[in-house]
Amino acid sequence: MTTPQVLLVDPIPADADAADTAILASLRFVPPTQPILSAFDAGAGRGDGVFETLGVSDGRARGIDAHLARLEASALKLDLPAPNLAQWRRGVDAMLDALPASGQASIRLVITRGTDAAGPPTCWLTGTPVASDFPERTEGIRVVTLSRGYANDVGEDAPWLLVGAKTLSYAINMAALREAQRRGADDVVFTSTDGFALEGPTSSLILRQGNTFITPAIQHGILAGTTQADLFGFLDAEGFECVYRTIPVGELLRSDAAWLVSSVRLAAPITAVDGSVIPTDLALTARMNAALLG
Ligand code: PLP
Repeated sequence: MTTPQVLLVDPIPADADAADTAILASLRFVPPTQPILSAFDAGAGRGDGVFETLGVSDGRARGIDAHLARLEASALKLDLPAPNLAQWRRGVDAMLDALPASGQASIRLVITRGTDAAGPPTCWLTGTPVASDFPERTEGIRVVTLSRGYANDVGEDAPWLLVGAKTLSYAINMAALREAQRRGADDVVFTSTDGFALEGPTSSLILRQGNTFITPAIQHGILAGTTQADLFGFLDAEGFECVYRTIPVGELLRSDAAWLVSSVRLAAPITAVDGSVIPTDLALTARMNAALLG
């Protein structure tokens, strides 16, 4: 495993038609131990910013377009300056060149509001080689259901809650994962106060019922998952029906299989919900993960 990489981005306005040489000049690798943030940065002090995490296998990043589109959508929700997507794409390419050509890795794109709301955002990428085998992909995960504390349609009434944006404020998500560990589980399915299953703290939920695959509709206060979308593409091509709708929590126990899916860990089959064992489809899980990695 090689060392992590850090690439600083001097942000170029989204509407600037910057030449490739100007974009290259705006990107600068720094040693991973070098401090890069002011103590007054809003990202560090308030979690005021957005990020993306891309999965990498054998030198290729998955779903670059989808991640850049979501970065742009998250920035818009937070009233941050729109990112220059050509610049970020160049940054991802440069990071891929700096990472090992084989094995798995993750690339993180970060934009914070910076030190002064009127000034430029603070922007960087990190690249981190990761252990190439995730036992969760084959052994599965036990989940607990935990309330997210608001109703399914909260995003419509309270857009300032930023549901559906990938903000840097993940302290709640990390606290939920620690609560899962306290309860002897590995991961979480967040639920709404009106009784629907939503998503994991860092993953999307997919259920199988017969030949139908179901994921919560994104208007219900969840992040639009890039891995879930890729998997629906794969499953659709395999002839399965793929549906977006509300999922009453009870369906977690009544489905033929369930997964939490995300860009780096990929598809992790759920083996138990709140201590009750549920069926798994490990052969299909293996094919799903092979499709994502392929
Ligand atoms: N939902 C949340 C809250 C997440 O943080 C993530 C990923 O980190 C996902 C869903 C899955 O998104 P993706 O498949 O794009 O990694």
